[in-house]
Amino acid sequence: MPYSDMNISAEELLDQIFTKTQELYKEICHDENDASNNHYEIFKLLTDLGRTLINADRASFWNWNKRSHEIWTTAAVGTGRITIPEGTGIVGKAISEKRVIIVNDPYNSPDFNSDVDKKTGYVTKSILVMPVSNCRGEIIGAFQAINKLGGDGNFNDGEDIKRLTLAAFICGITLESETFLDASYHDRLTELKNRMGFYSDYNGKFSKMLSDTEDLHDISLFICDIDFFKKVNDTYGHNAGDAVLKHVSQILYRNMRICDGIYRWGGEEFIAMLPDTDMDGAAETAERIRRTVMDSVCHFEELDIKVTMSFGVTTIDRTKSIEDNIKDADEKLYKAKESGRNIVIK
Ligand code: GH3
Ligand code: MG
Ligand code: MG
Repeated sequence: MPYSDMNISAEELLDQIFTKTQELYKEICHDENDASNNHYEIFKLLTDLGRTLINADRASFWNWNKRSHEIWTTAAVGTGRITIPEGTGIVGKAISEKRVIIVNDPYNSPDFNSDVDKKTGYVTKSILVMPVSNCRGEIIGAFQAINKLGGDGNFNDGEDIKRLTLAAFICGITLESETFLDASYHDRLTELKNRMGFYSDYNGKFSKMLSDTEDLHDISLFICDIDFFKKVNDTYGHNAGDAVLKHVSQILYRNMRICDGIYRWGGEEFIAMLPDTDMDGAAETAERIRRTVMDSVCHFEELDIKVTMSFGVTTIDRTKSIEDNIKDADEKLYKAKESGRNIVIK
């Protein structure tokens, strides 16, 4: 159906598309440091761009979580977040059959789930679902448009599909790059952030805090290292060593506040960033963790393994580089090791 047949002129539609694209690009370029923390706004704009491209009333972008076997709305224009089991509904069908599905009479379709309509009073008249793939062609989600505006109210399998492909394509690449970045910032064994994740957070939120001349609250950091960890590997094997790393990581993670950062710095060494915390506050947190680790037991197969950790604490000197600040904490950690281990040195 030509777009001139609809209630909106082609020129108006193009203008809307360009405006949305401009908003989207502004959002992406706005603050590179926030981009890694919250892509929600970008997906929302992309979803709205797709909705505008094909002149639909509502649109949603669905992310397929292959681990939890669920599909959920990363962004939705017109509805809240929805999660459904994979393979269900029209979105599930489009994903599992890897094809675009158009349903212009949903109440007579066995795949249509009218629960949302029943709950909200909305009336779904037409649906278009396009699977979204990454650049290797693996399906990673789907784009759904609901209720074609104008014309006969039906989606068509020519122009609408062609137009939606643009939004689906950008959504696919964006989702993939987000997933890839997230994976590269995390350590697979412990699930803590890794050194790359540390530098991403440091260059983003922490350096912003440190350069804020109105907020001069201390930021402290500590480095900690498992004592005699090589012995764990040598005595019980590498898998037991891995279990100890996971065990210690969980204790570290659970003892952090939301605003803190905890990272696997390498091997059996971790680094923590504690905003709004002076030296004594950071040493107290380190001491609490030291005791918790010391009093805990790591159960691995039939083994009960106990370890201790040593800590070096410092408050960030804003006049020095992050590397020099870390070096300072590292020297204290070295002292902790020299003085017999299982101790916090500030
Ligand atoms: P210290 O108390 O002085 O820290 O002694 P240590 O034995 O803990 O330190 P050392 O540096 O001698 O040994 C660290 C060991 O950690 C050596 C390395 O094989 C092991 N390691 C590093 N990464 C991993 C890992 O991912 N898994 C396991 N199982 N071991 C690891
Ligand atoms: Mg060690
Ligand atoms: Mg070490």
